[in-house]
Amino acid sequence: MQMKREDFEILNERVYGKELVYLDNAATTQKPREVLDAMTYAYTHFNSNIHRGVHHLSQIATRNHEEARQKVAQYINTESPDEIVFTKGTTDSINMLAFSVGELLVREGDEVLVSAVEHHSNIVPWQMMCERKGARLRVIPLREDMTLDMEALDKLLNEKTRIVSVAHVSNVLGTVNPVGEIVRKAHEKGVAVCIDAAQSAAHMRVDVRELDCDFMAFSAHKMYGPTGLGVLYGKREWLEKLPPAEGGGEMIEHVSFEKTTYNTLPYKFEAGTPDFIGSYVFGKALDYIERIGRAEIEKEESELTAYAEQRLKEVPGVKIYAAGQRKAGVISFNVEGIHPYDIGMLLDRQGVAVRTGHHCAEPLINELGVPGTVRISFGLYNNKEDVDKFVEALEKSLHILTGV
Ligand code: PLP
Repeated sequence: MQMKREDFEILNERVYGKELVYLDNAATTQKPREVLDAMTYAYTHFNSNIHRGVHHLSQIATRNHEEARQKVAQYINTESPDEIVFTKGTTDSINMLAFSVGELLVREGDEVLVSAVEHHSNIVPWQMMCERKGARLRVIPLREDMTLDMEALDKLLNEKTRIVSVAHVSNVLGTVNPVGEIVRKAHEKGVAVCIDAAQSAAHMRVDVRELDCDFMAFSAHKMYGPTGLGVLYGKREWLEKLPPAEGGGEMIEHVSFEKTTYNTLPYKFEAGTPDFIGSYVFGKALDYIERIGRAEIEKEESELTAYAEQRLKEVPGVKIYAAGQRKAGVISFNVEGIHPYDIGMLLDRQGVAVRTGHHCAEPLINELGVPGTVRISFGLYNNKEDVDKFVEALEKSLHILTGV
């Protein structure tokens, strides 16, 4: 994978005169040259609004957009490309879904289940919907070892539960949640499941038919693709039944002042001009990932994560959260007596980009009982050298902060 670094020109940037070590991939990934070139190509050769045009450019743009939808469908193995809705990102996908599910399914006294490790994007939209509907948001707790308490899930699932929405991979702990098992348990009770795949989709094989989940959400920018684009997958039978969350052009069949009828899938959920340049560019990012191979990416990233945990353990005072658990390229830690922000600042001065704070998962951070964590997260271009440089920079930072 070492040679793949050459595809990412930004990795040659210097930060305060130092070589960049980019370890903030859970926030967003860098883009390879061919993805950047695809953006220029699209605007240079076929920029034209889709679906409505009879003219040549519009037809090419439409074809490219729909081909990208097919690539996404293949990537997560849906039954049909009609089950892929393009959105603005994971957050947008979950907001849309929470609204639609709320309208279709949720009544006063009903319950929605999320887990203790969720990103705010997979809490707040459900909470807003629950407030509107007089429903209750309930939480699958963590066990001592920071994995989800599956026995508690058995008790939480009941006749009032309408949907379960859980992260595939925690963006704070990096832990891989047993989403297949969660789907199985929920389906036994007739409850639908949404998987927030924001942190898994670029790092492992994600197969919606194997998982049998009802919905899935993810963001292109975390997958070496463009910002402002995401995906909401839904099983056809669900998407047929759910009302659209947004109205406008494109999502309609006929409009009169008295009544509007909706378009077929997936257009019913895509109001307005979609990001047809973004979808084309995202298709190129998926090609790039597929060329390397997700099995290869998962293997390399899991080895790198294990190596980083081992190196971090050698640093005095370091506490790694969910240490030793199966992780997908994310590690959170703290150093005794030191604020994570101070570590982040000093690492930055040495060219090492990490994230500090609550990582948009305040309930989890509160449960850990800390003001925040330092988080490192890997992409397919990271290697052991990056980890070594990071550990060296961390040791220097701690020396500055403690004088030891
Ligand atoms: N869910 C998880 C697990 C995340 O890590 C993130 C982003 O970090 C999101 C949702 C939100 O993604 P976006 O900001 O691209 O909508």
